[in-house]
Amino acid sequence: MKNSANDLHHRLRTLAKNLWWAWHPEVIRLFTDLDPHLWREVDHNPMAFLNRTDPEQIEQRASELVLHSRINHAFRRLNEYLEAPQTWGTAHCGNLCNRPVAYFSAEFGLHESLPIYSGGLGILAGDHLKSASDLGIPLIGIGLLYHQGYFIQRLNKEGWQEESYVDLDIKQLPLEPLTQSDGQPLIIRVDTRDGFLAARCWQLQVGRVRLVLLDSNVEGNSDEDRMLTSRLYGGNDRTRIRQELLLGIGGARVLQALNVFPGVLHLNEGHSAFAILEEVRRIVQDDGISFDRALRRVALYTIFTTHTPVPAGHDRFGPQLVEEHLGVFREKLQLSHDAFMALGRVNPEDKNEPFCMTVLALKNSRQANAVSAIHSDISRRMWQGLWPNRSETEVPIGHITNGVHVLSWVAPQMHKLFETRLAHNWPTRMIHSDIWEKVLEIDDGELWENHQILNMRLINFVRRRLLRRAERLGDQETIQQIDHILDPDILTIGSARRFATYKRGDLILSRPERLVKLVADPNRPLQIIFAGKAHPRDDEGKKILQRIIRYSSNPELKRRIVFVEDYDYNVARHLVQGVDVWLNTPRRPLEACGTSGQKVVLNGGLNLSVLDGWWNEGFNGRNGFAIGHGGMHNDLNVQNQRDAEFLYLALEQEVIPLYYERDASGIPHRWVQRVKESMQSLGWRFNADRMVRDYANRFYLPAAGAESAATV
Ligand SMILES: *Cc1c(COP(=O)(O)O)cnc(C)c1O
Repeated sequence: MKNSANDLHHRLRTLAKNLWWAWHPEVIRLFTDLDPHLWREVDHNPMAFLNRTDPEQIEQRASELVLHSRINHAFRRLNEYLEAPQTWGTAHCGNLCNRPVAYFSAEFGLHESLPIYSGGLGILAGDHLKSASDLGIPLIGIGLLYHQGYFIQRLNKEGWQEESYVDLDIKQLPLEPLTQSDGQPLIIRVDTRDGFLAARCWQLQVGRVRLVLLDSNVEGNSDEDRMLTSRLYGGNDRTRIRQELLLGIGGARVLQALNVFPGVLHLNEGHSAFAILEEVRRIVQDDGISFDRALRRVALYTIFTTHTPVPAGHDRFGPQLVEEHLGVFREKLQLSHDAFMALGRVNPEDKNEPFCMTVLALKNSRQANAVSAIHSDISRRMWQGLWPNRSETEVPIGHITNGVHVLSWVAPQMHKLFETRLAHNWPTRMIHSDIWEKVLEIDDGELWENHQILNMRLINFVRRRLLRRAERLGDQETIQQIDHILDPDILTIGSARRFATYKRGDLILSRPERLVKLVADPNRPLQIIFAGKAHPRDDEGKKILQRIIRYSSNPELKRRIVFVEDYDYNVARHLVQGVDVWLNTPRRPLEACGTSGQKVVLNGGLNLSVLDGWWNEGFNGRNGFAIGHGGMHNDLNVQNQRDAEFLYLALEQEVIPLYYERDASGIPHRWVQRVKESMQSLGWRFNADRMVRDYANRFYLPAAGAESAATV
């Protein structure tokens, strides 16, 4: 008994230590089956779960529930995955084997139990790692460990957002400290004008891929610096440049300490662009070549991805901050202050121009890309100043459209359906359009029923969350009516995003009378589930949020417009799996890509979106719904008015009639046709496997080849 108990515990611990479980719901099911209450109590964290139970107890539960063979099976599958001799990567990425891709990102969204992401950028980076792992591409991730994560969102009685922070307990996370060869903790130091900044390093296994996280909470740092990596996007410019110093320069130094010499530097957004400079410093030191030559060499294997056309999304630092933090560094490289500043200036001569991280990255990368076709048009216009002798169309910024890591987002139920109806190995073949043609053969009733079950699960989840808030606020009315809030027979619209103003999360509320008419329609009503956070310092965003909360307490809309607090990976997963329609109303062309809508496709939801970002490429007239025709207007009010009008037209004339057009047994055949068209036309394109393969084929492999050519 004792031995087998230890054995079982060991197997579960091995599973818990590799984030591979995060995209294998059958492993998560093991934990939820073992103890559903505990699973919820530990916030879906398998390590914390195991730390709270003793082996004997688990053994007993596993026996009672006959879980042994499932646990063994999961354990075996993980090992097979890790040891697979043949992957896409082994077949195609030979020259990255010894010199992997170093993928830098300020945030990584892998699972709700590891809250080191704030939104789309982080989720995308997490999805990138997972697909790189699935494909077997040699890649190592570098990021920061935020020990207070992003914030926890609560809405008070007035509907105003309040933020709180909880310290992560590192012992409860699958993080291993990185050590030096003598067993001492690896500490990275970066010198600044007023002392050094130190960080310890953790590693996390994400399938076959390793993620290294720097953490400034170490002895030797001032109290303030110990808090430096506590929160995402907190503090001021000084906090920001110090975080980026750690991420870029510190991150590149961790690689050196690990003896990892990257064949490709992939900078996911400009935050990490200082990594270029540290790589240059190393080469100047090792090879004794000039700064300029080393910079050109590093550029040969640097890839830069820009993620936003919103100017505030591009970090800019004044000369004093730059001198304070990089003065020591530039002296080592024997650069003058002006020469250094010029690296981050559009116009090197302009002494008033701040140092821009995006400029540093754009000037010194082999290839730069935006994250959708329309975003690359905007980016070329935005950065044309860097290439004054070229026309806008010749500015070298291409695009690779983002995709989502399907197994992280698709409901287990849908996964099974595809397994039986498409191909047993559909997950490894999802980028091939031909397997999706078989979707057309799935019985309408079967597909519809599957989706309805997911819709019901979403409603139950939302009710639990609403109940939690109502209990906290002592809102008796909601508590009593909880089972009457939302209705599985009603068209469910989901809308969740950061409450940045350009996302216009409240566009649908801009025609109140029309909205009431639609929501309260006796025959064909609709209901809306909102979620999303506003940045702690964004009062405009918080006001939008408050307006939504006020609507949700309007007597006529009450049980049909709801807001779910604390949008995170978990809330997102429930929403994208259960909604009928995913609503996205950004102000064109500011969305860059947007990925949340991609997550609903394979779960049987339909997109209703402005033709911006990925939807501008994905929409074909039959696979969802468009708001407007892709128009823009210089006057924002006019654009908002028009888009609101288009949104209502789409709802009134297309979405609602189609959803409620049923046959005798209640199946909306024409709606289901559209769902199938959506799966078939979008599934193979807008996934992270396709995205990462595009990066590998178009960027990584040529870059790795160029670099080795340059060194021989
Ligand atoms: C997918 C996702 C995002 C990105 O969504 P967009 O609004 O489409 O950019 C943000 N946050 C969470 C939690 C997500 O899951």
